[in-house]
Amino acid sequence: MKLHEYQAKDILARHGVAVQRGLVAFSVEEAVEAARQIQQESGKDLFVVKAQIHAGGRGKGGGVKLARGLEAVREVAGKILGMKLKTHQTGPEGQLVRSVLITEAVDIAREYYLGVTLDRQRSMNVIMASTEGGVEIETVAAETPEKILKVWVDPLTGLSPYQARQLAFGLGFEGQAFKDATRFIAALYRAYVESDASLAEINPLALTEQGQVLALDAKITLDDNALFRHKDLAAMRDPYEEDPLELEAAEYSLNYIKLDGNVGCMVNGAGLAMATMDIIKLAGGEPANFLDVGGNASAETVEAGFRIILKDPNVRAILVNIFGGIVRCDRVARGIVEAARKVEINVPLIVRLQGTNAEEGQAILQESGLTIETAILLKEAAEKVTRALGQQATA
Ligand code: GDP
Ligand code: MN
Repeated sequence: MKLHEYQAKDILARHGVAVQRGLVAFSVEEAVEAARQIQQESGKDLFVVKAQIHAGGRGKGGGVKLARGLEAVREVAGKILGMKLKTHQTGPEGQLVRSVLITEAVDIAREYYLGVTLDRQRSMNVIMASTEGGVEIETVAAETPEKILKVWVDPLTGLSPYQARQLAFGLGFEGQAFKDATRFIAALYRAYVESDASLAEINPLALTEQGQVLALDAKITLDDNALFRHKDLAAMRDPYEEDPLELEAAEYSLNYIKLDGNVGCMVNGAGLAMATMDIIKLAGGEPANFLDVGGNASAETVEAGFRIILKDPNVRAILVNIFGGIVRCDRVARGIVEAARKVEINVPLIVRLQGTNAEEGQAILQESGLTIETAILLKEAAEKVTRALGQQATA
């Protein structure tokens, strides 16, 4: 689960990471009030108004603006709130801005990059740091990888003080800023571990003209599988930022991820779902989604699955691929027939049932009077998908 910048900064601040002072606002009035409070605490008159959406690159897209004085905050917040902000991460239609973070503006002497994530290959957390902050780290990684310092942390032993010093030294910090930077790195790592994050990223980390080490931006992605033990963090979910189909799927405990292709698929088991997506590609299609209905494919879950798949306007065929292990194929077939009667399926439907009672399942589908193409072999199913797509292309 992704978080907004203001939420990420709250978490970081709680763990002792130095972040720029700021307050979130959901209306222009709240934005002005936030700036007034910050002014009272800091005595400063320059603010940054920052669009809160789950995407990076907001600065370039016009979602991060400096404002001097409360009236300027009013004007800028008025422009940013309600705008459809387009960045390289939002997709072409952009993302509606519903809140802004008002921060005190700091004078930046240097910008750095600092991030913690999981290195699956090494089974360790990795802290990455670079003097090339403020720009997209992907570009740095692609063009000048030698400018990214990496330190791997064994989750069993945790971060050693020398590792934090190594990074701060590598970034060129000196004197008090060196001490602050090592403390910053240790606190960031603690926040990452204690909140069960899969990513905690600061870009830019700033060294201010006054010598402070501060997070100007923050991005945290939480591991969904650990959310059950962080009720306070789970409550930070912003449904407006989530795909509506994924939200609906979650209500039925379906494991659904929307993709950009044209063949919807419904499968039981994550491994089989991955294999089915490969088959769709081999057949010349592109998967429209990943959908694992789990080990217990009932009529109700199958029906919900069809409804969700069909809400995606790109879907031109549906492939159901169920392996009857614990669940019997005849039961699944009855579920499909029941669901197909309730949900209008207006694209070719190809069903492959294999495993326990596969023949009985196929017979049920064939006798149902519904236009369902059945298959037992994977190859057969793939050919039928190809044909279904081909027929539409020439129609
Ligand atoms: P992003 O574009 O979505 O990554 O948003 P950021 O929070 O990183 O802001 C974009 C840019 O705005 C940063 O890279 C900074 O250069 C600039 N910025 C953010 N806060 C301040 C600030 O307090 N003072 C100044 N001068 N620039 C800032
Ligand atoms: Mn940034």
